[in-house]
Amino acid sequence: MSRRVIVVGAGVVGLTCAVRLAESTDLLVDVLARDLPGENASALGPVPWLPPPARLGPEAAAWARLTRERLGELAEGSASPETGVVLLPGRLVGDGSPDGGRGDVQRVTAPVIFPVAYLRYLVRRLLAAGGTLTRMSLPTLPQRGLVLNCSGLAARALAEDLQVLPWRWQYLRVTDPGLGEWTAGSGVSIVPDRGLLAIAADDEPGTDEPHPDGRSLLARAVRLEPRLAGVEVSAHRAALRAHRPGVQLSVRHEQERTVLHCYGHGSAGPSLSWGCAEEVVRRVSSLVTAPAAADTGLW
Ligand SMILES: Cc1cc2nc3c(=O)[nH]c(=O)nc-3n(C[C@H](O)[C@H](O)[C@H](O)COP(=O)(O)OP(=O)(O)OC[C@H]3O[C@@H](n4cnc5c(N)ncnc54)[C@H](O)[C@@H]3O)c2cc1C
Repeated sequence: MSRRVIVVGAGVVGLTCAVRLAESTDLLVDVLARDLPGENASALGPVPWLPPPARLGPEAAAWARLTRERLGELAEGSASPETGVVLLPGRLVGDGSPDGGRGDVQRVTAPVIFPVAYLRYLVRRLLAAGGTLTRMSLPTLPQRGLVLNCSGLAARALAEDLQVLPWRWQYLRVTDPGLGEWTAGSGVSIVPDRGLLAIAADDEPGTDEPHPDGRSLLARAVRLEPRLAGVEVSAHRAALRAHRPGVQLSVRHEQERTVLHCYGHGSAGPSLSWGCAEEVVRRVSSLVTAPAAADTGLW
């Protein structure tokens, strides 16, 4: 019997894990997702690779380092024009993370992800490795077999994890006064994008403004980059993503299924994705080679 893994979720985390599983194991990899790439929280605007908040611990720091390496390869390799990843010069204020964005300015060149092209690239890679992607809204996680849960915010319901909370973030497109580089700090990122600037940020914790109009985000961006004072806003969107005190990457064995959870990346999904995917491959490989897995005949 063919062995199969069902990946729930086609955001940046689910797709990256699915690509690595399809390329480096002999499992059939079937991705099921309510929203397809381009429609989910992973797809709103460009984002530079950024160091994760220190509170996520040393494991996340290692995942982030590996992700930076992989994204750098995508930006420089032979497929680079199609990957949606570009190495761009920028400024990190403090360590650039949401928790530590004040302090010294470092000039760095980092990979920047442009999500529409990038997520399409991941889908092509998944299909080329024999995986599948199907739109399907699941009422629960699949009841049998090997399941990888990358459902982001929906993990609150699907995994009954009450530590997962919806957290609003906002995205603005504004005129570019000629910055010529990206800037990140205090949880705000400002990235040149097709002649405009894309500004994105988590809302400040505790915000209770029911209908954000983007002014608070622009004010924060101006504090980070004073040349943005007076820019014209051409688009404003808000989205929800999963906030959790830490990333959930764990295995749960149940009667007829084994679920590997991988969610709760906060705003750091893109910056942790390749490192998490390697950890997922490692755990899945040890699961499928364990004698108990063969005995159950579940996948
Ligand atoms: C380019 C880019 C820019 C970003 N900028 C910011 C930012 O400025 N601020 C910020 O806070 N975060 C930002 N993020 C981060 C982002 O919000 C999260 O880190 C990232 O989206 C998490 O990815 P994910 O794959 O875990 O979840 P998601 O992208 O939310 O994907 C979850 C997937 O699960 C699927 N799913 C959910 N429920 C079901 C169900 N019942 N059945 C089937 N499928 C289901 C969804 O359809 C979706 O495909 C950005 C991400 C990217 C890629």
